Amino acid sequence: MTGAGHISRLLQAIGRATHLLAVPNDNPVLTAAQYEAFSKQVPLLYFILATNMISLSWTHQGSAPNMLVIYFPAVLTLLFTLRSALWLRGRKLQRTPAQAYRQLRSTNILSFPIAVVCTGWSVSLLPYGNAYQNAHVAFFMAITVIGCIFCLMHLRSAALIVTVTVNLPFLVVMCLSGEPTFIATGINVMLVTMAMIMILLSHYRDFRQLHESRQVLLIQQEALQEQNKAMQALSDENLRLANLDSLTMLANRRSFFQMLDTAFFRASADGQRLVVGVIDLDGFKPVNDMYGHAAGDKVLIEIAARLSTLSTPDLSVYRLGGDEFGLLLKGDGGSDVMGLGQVVCDRIAERINIGSGMVQVTGSVGFAIYPDVGSTGQEIYELADYALYTAKRTHRAGAVIFNAVQASELNRQKVVEEALVAADLDKELSLVYQPITCLGTRRCIGFEALARWQSPHIGRVSPSEFIPVAEHNGRITMMTRLLLGQALAVAREWPDDVYLSFNLSPHDLTSPECTLRIVAIVLKSGFDPRRINFEITETAVMHDFEQASASIQMLRELGCGIALDDFGTGYSSLNHVHKLPLTKIKIDGSFVRDIHTRRTSFKIVKSVLALCAEMELNAIVEGVETEEELRILEGLGVEAVQGYYFGKPMAAIDTFALVPEGHVRAAAS
Ligand code: C2E
Ligand code: CA
Ligand code: CA
Repeated sequence: MTGAGHISRLLQAIGRATHLLAVPNDNPVLTAAQYEAFSKQVPLLYFILATNMISLSWTHQGSAPNMLVIYFPAVLTLLFTLRSALWLRGRKLQRTPAQAYRQLRSTNILSFPIAVVCTGWSVSLLPYGNAYQNAHVAFFMAITVIGCIFCLMHLRSAALIVTVTVNLPFLVVMCLSGEPTFIATGINVMLVTMAMIMILLSHYRDFRQLHESRQVLLIQQEALQEQNKAMQALSDENLRLANLDSLTMLANRRSFFQMLDTAFFRASADGQRLVVGVIDLDGFKPVNDMYGHAAGDKVLIEIAARLSTLSTPDLSVYRLGGDEFGLLLKGDGGSDVMGLGQVVCDRIAERINIGSGMVQVTGSVGFAIYPDVGSTGQEIYELADYALYTAKRTHRAGAVIFNAVQASELNRQKVVEEALVAADLDKELSLVYQPITCLGTRRCIGFEALARWQSPHIGRVSPSEFIPVAEHNGRITMMTRLLLGQALAVAREWPDDVYLSFNLSPHDLTSPECTLRIVAIVLKSGFDPRRINFEITETAVMHDFEQASASIQMLRELGCGIALDDFGTGYSSLNHVHKLPLTKIKIDGSFVRDIHTRRTSFKIVKSVLALCAEMELNAIVEGVETEEELRILEGLGVEAVQGYYFGKPMAAIDTFALVPEGHVRAAAS
């Protein structure tokens, strides 16, 4: 090995030794823990030192000078007591890791002079003592060093300093005495302290490891707590979002029904009032169709913002879906429900800027007030919804509170529903046929089949009553198939130039299966599909335009005609007329009523006829009852009409009397 190699190894060894003799400061948490453990043992350390010194001084009383056995030990004992008191007081104070480190380091430094002084003192007593006293000195040194190593267990460096500082001179002194007992004692103490140092080092390592792993555990725990906090925040946020409508930021349908239940529970327990409101926009669909969904969204956001300005601690606003909103008003505050309805309608009706222009929609509100009506939250909602339905039917853009009239309507609906569920439709359902007449030739060119129900329990029920109920409970598709079969069997007997007009319900167009079953019935009947005209309403296409349009296309491909029924009463969106493969438009009878006196009706019929001509669609005017109406329609160039003037809906058998001649008598003749 080269000289440089030796030097570097020597430097490394010195480095290791200084490292062992210094207080480690690489881990502040560990230093603090070390300080805490060590501080408990410091007073004991000084206690060992003091009692050992007092004991040795006492056995040397009289033989050694007072300086060595009284004054010097007294001063040291005083110092040790003071240091103990300082440590005891320090234990009560909170130390930062830096303060702990400084304290440990000063103790480390102090350990050397204390070891030197104590060793020097005990060795200086040797010349004055006899064999017993010298044995006590040896015992003092051995027991003190062992005691100190124990107490310095948590300050490894100080323990090493004390061991080296005491043991080396002790061994030398013992060996120099030439006394075999002392030499053996010296070597023995040396070996025991070395073993103890080994134990101490391994204990220190364990202590360090324990703290490090505890630290890791703490960090992991903290991370886990952080993670839990984040998870909690996330789940809170999810819950918030689950109850919030993402477009309008109003509370959503789910939240509405939750709050409804809670509010109902409280209201029924406290005997308080609870008002449930359901709002539906009128004219929202056309905005959506004409300006696109982005504009529709803007309208909904704006209306939601306007409605939320009405919120109070007692009044909350929700978006129930689509263009429907909900209100919950708790307690008796703001008891003017109609006034609230008016405010809601006024706020909705204000014009809205959609960027590309201004639009206006209106709203209808239905209210139900507990405890006047309802026995569950859900029931109050349903009654409010019924009131809304009435509001939309009767006075658009207005408020309606569920009342006795609607209660009896609803009751009747329930009676009809129950009878319909129990009905033997095959036997109880039948069809009547109303002629459709060509104005030019006065010939009957077709019949519209209209359903009739004779219930053994509740008697004759109008289709305007039972069709909506059948649509609601899903029996309508079955009815359609049954009636279509009946109608085709009758129509087969008509001359080839007479067609069948048959009403389809929105449900018949909502799935390809339903439409395919209709196609199958037509094909099975052997009736020429080109002589069938299916009547559909706009509501049928409003719900799911894509599906309805595909179903209509399927029927068109079969060869059937498609008429848009009741034109003018619904949304009458030009978009629908334009996008669907229609063949006819049926202008609703309400426009014919007093057409000779009502200018607006006249203008509407005139412009719809112009539209039909433009789009190459046949027009049929419904509900013609009088000569005057007929004359005006003739003047407008109407081709086909239907109404009591030419014939009321009639039994199948009567249709044959009407078509063989091919001419229909004018009602007047
Ligand atoms: P709709 O399709 O508009 O049928 C025309 C309705 O107007 C019929 O009422 C008819 O009797 C009545 N009507 C015809 N001419 C006149 C008139 O000059 N003056 C007046 N005031 N009324 C006239 P109905 O038979 O009571 O049918 C009511 C509604 O029930 C129908 O309206 C249709 O929407 C529905 N409906 C009837 N039969 C069926 C059916 O088989 N299937 C489906 N899905 N709906 C049907
Ligand atoms: Ca019809
Ligand atoms: Ca109609």
